[in-house]
Amino acid sequence: MTERRCAGCWQVKDRNDLIKITANHADGSININPDSLTFGRSVYLCYNESCIEAAFKKNKLCKILKAPVPKELKGQLLNELRNN
Ligand SMILES: [Zn+2]
Repeated sequence: MTERRCAGCWQVKDRNDLIKITANHADGSININPDSLTFGRSVYLCYNESCIEAAFKKNKLCKILKAPVPKELKGQLLNELRNN
C-alpha cells in the first residue's frame, strides 16, 4: 500500500483515497489525478471539501507545488468530489 499525506488535514492515507494534484514540470500546468506520464511536484488531498478549503488557505498549494495555482482549480477539485 502506498501512503501519502493530505496537505489539508495532514493525515496519512492510502494513495487511492486521495486526489493527486501535480504541477507539470514540462509546461507548468496544474493537473488533477494526472496520468503516469505527468511529472512534477505533487500534492495530495482527501476527497473532502474541508481539506480542499484548507489547502487553498494562505496559498498553501502554491507554496507546496512552487507553482501558480489557478483560481478555477478549487472548483475543479470540488467537481472531483461530486464525481466520486
Ligand atoms: Zn485531508
